[in-house]
Amino acid sequence: MKESLLDVSLEELEKFVAASGGQKFHAAQIKKFSNFGFEVEEISVISKQLREILSKSFVSNPVKIIQEIESKDGTKKFLFQLLDGNVIEGVLMSYHHGKTLCISSQVGCRMGCKFCASTLGGLVRNLSSSEILGQVLSVNRALGAKVSERKITNLVLMGSGEPLDNYENVVRFIKEISGPNSLNISQRNISLSTCGLVEKIYRLADDGLQITLTISLHAPNDEIRRKIMPVASSQPIEKLIESAKYYFDKTGRRVVFEYAMIDGVNNSAACAAELKKLLGGLCCHINLIPLNSVEERNLKGAPKHQVYWFKDKLVSLGLSATVRRTMGEDIEGACGQLRAKFLKNS
Ligand code: SAH
Repeated sequence: MKESLLDVSLEELEKFVAASGGQKFHAAQIKKFSNFGFEVEEISVISKQLREILSKSFVSNPVKIIQEIESKDGTKKFLFQLLDGNVIEGVLMSYHHGKTLCISSQVGCRMGCKFCASTLGGLVRNLSSSEILGQVLSVNRALGAKVSERKITNLVLMGSGEPLDNYENVVRFIKEISGPNSLNISQRNISLSTCGLVEKIYRLADDGLQITLTISLHAPNDEIRRKIMPVASSQPIEKLIESAKYYFDKTGRRVVFEYAMIDGVNNSAACAAELKKLLGGLCCHINLIPLNSVEERNLKGAPKHQVYWFKDKLVSLGLSATVRRTMGEDIEGACGQLRAKFLKNS
């Protein structure tokens, strides 16, 4: 299998170029094109001969878009293929303030959340940092970006996989994408969503990144949480909230909690009161999402009016809460749904 240029350091590339009859500065040019997702054949500033030698050993982007589906509301879902044939997915949402891309951190997932399609076939493998980066680069290019141009303004690590279960590669990716040699996306515009791996949340806080931490809470207590999220058995909710407090104290970044409303499971007035007790002392925001029903899982989303009723309840208790606009429902917008469909049909 060919190696991705994104995984090759400038020094290594300089050696390769020199051994192939090129000049040192060619390596920097190749790197620049590659860092913006351009393929070897497209690097017009080097000779055809050097391009041919390079393309025998390297590809630029290890991620290719193999399917693109547009929703009625303009949301786009992408199916990506990796060099080993595995597929992952991403979603692009356009807002008035910019474009947000949702990307994957693993092929599959081993966290086993009962409502989530990503976890259906278990974890296949972690993505490398260049495979996470490659998703952003290929969509940026699909949007017509030239070298050094950024079309995507915000990133959310909310696609398939548990980002904190692939900690090193995810952090490496965040440092790269927010750096001057890449798209330079501000860390403040990057959200990482986790099902709540407590130790890793402390580590993230200590690593000093400026990203938004989003925690998939989905329940106000361990009893309900364990029914829908197996991870709750090893990560008690109180410890999870303590780690969120630590994250806020250390970074000054408001923590966001995701709460998917599931009919008859987590949407009672008692649940709202418990959330107030749990989160009342923390600088945080609660994002309510009506659960996207997944065919393979028999959990139903709470009706819209109930989601709004629950939101009003939380706000009246003094919590900051909004209902997240659902986008791309007609194109299997929820986590792992498109990949699940692709695997079933192929
Ligand atoms: N593993 C990470 C990130 C991936 S999931 C995490 O757990 O946060 C991104 C978000 O989508 C999570 O909040 C997850 O709980 C939510 N999600 C998954 N399946 C969903 C569904 N069917 N409907 C609504 N939200 C869903």
